[in-house]
Amino acid sequence: MEPTTKTCLSCQKPLKGRIDKKFCDDYCRNNYNNQQRASDSTPTKEIIQHLKKNRLVLAGFLQNEEMTKTTKERLLAKGFQFKYHTHHYENKKGNVYVFCFEYGYLPLDHDWFLIVKRVSES
Ligand SMILES: [Zn+2]
Repeated sequence: MEPTTKTCLSCQKPLKGRIDKKFCDDYCRNNYNNQQRASDSTPTKEIIQHLKKNRLVLAGFLQNEEMTKTTKERLLAKGFQFKYHTHHYENKKGNVYVFCFEYGYLPLDHDWFLIVKRVSES
């Protein structure tokens, strides 16, 4: 027999009965599964929503151009959230672009931003 007492994954109470039990009952099982879902997929979905929103904002400024400039104020006014991005790209000059999918921006002086679109990753 195992020396340690197994505890319920949901309420942490010691479990009695079958050795392969993980929960006291269905209530604890459901509780645990709901918590897992809440702490796992919901924030992921939210972040993806923010990223998609950011992407749309950048695309809106860019229209069909390869690059354009705008201000922090205008980005924020459109609902852009600077904390959400997918990756960074550093060019040969050492400028670090911040990307939301294929759209990116480069912070310039005085709260201006250069907005770019990358056609393909290289
Ligand atoms: Zn329990």
